[in-house]
Amino acid sequence: MAERTGIEWADATWNPWMGCTKVSEGCKNCYMFRDMKRYGKDPTRVVRSLTTFKAPLKWLNDGKVPAGAKIFTCSWSDFFHPDADPWRQEAWDIIGRTPEFTYLILTKRPERIAAHLPKNWGEGWPNVWLGVSAENQDRADERLFLLMNTPARVRFVSAEPLLGPIDFTRVAVGKRFVDGKWEAERYNAFQDRVLFTDEGDVELGRIHWVITGGESDFQAPRPFNPGWVADIAEECRRHGTALFHKQNGGTRKVDGAWGGREVIGMVYSEFPR
Ligand code: SF4
Repeated sequence: MAERTGIEWADATWNPWMGCTKVSEGCKNCYMFRDMKRYGKDPTRVVRSLTTFKAPLKWLNDGKVPAGAKIFTCSWSDFFHPDADPWRQEAWDIIGRTPEFTYLILTKRPERIAAHLPKNWGEGWPNVWLGVSAENQDRADERLFLLMNTPARVRFVSAEPLLGPIDFTRVAVGKRFVDGKWEAERYNAFQDRVLFTDEGDVELGRIHWVITGGESDFQAPRPFNPGWVADIAEECRRHGTALFHKQNGGTRKVDGAWGGREVIGMVYSEFPR
């Protein structure tokens, strides 16, 4: 599992390990589970790949992936899955040794990021974009704060499959006591900010890129509402945040994408600068 990919927002995939366990609603129809079962393999067993672990070290020489390519890392697992802890540092070493590529690392386990970054991460390695999945507002509230509290050159959110509306300008960062009750404190994820807490100030860096998409391929994909993307697009436009809408989802391809890519008369194919 490597090299060129049909995932429109990346140029190639790299899977140093495969297998995963489900953590939230977005995992319900995980394509890795479907495909592993088709091959007669247990998708919940996280295994180090014998053939692709070191693949990026060879790509430039064998010409399979050109310099400058964006590599979706762990498209068949989760880079921060606990079962991959013994191998992750070696994967970081490979990423560090191949600055010609940009690695897009997307996780549903952002609570594990901080403890599993390389020691010299600093303000973020230039060739790593860090992202979290958020399929609805609850998951955005749960995960974005953890990402924004992590230094990274590019931070992104994959809202795919998008299962409900998400207001990125009102994401929960914690709770405050107002009029005798606790309520969520909300903030704009498209802006840097400093959060003042009892323990000290917390710097939060903004989200630079949003990917959206409806659920696809399966016999009963969950409903997708183009209005959810239109609202996100409006927020992105107002804040200068890049938006890539991958597909509307469903069971039928239109112009090569599940359900087509046009949403309310627009096609969004932006990348962060
Ligand atoms: S975290 Fe990703 S790879 Fe793992 S089960 Fe969920 S959707 Fe699949």
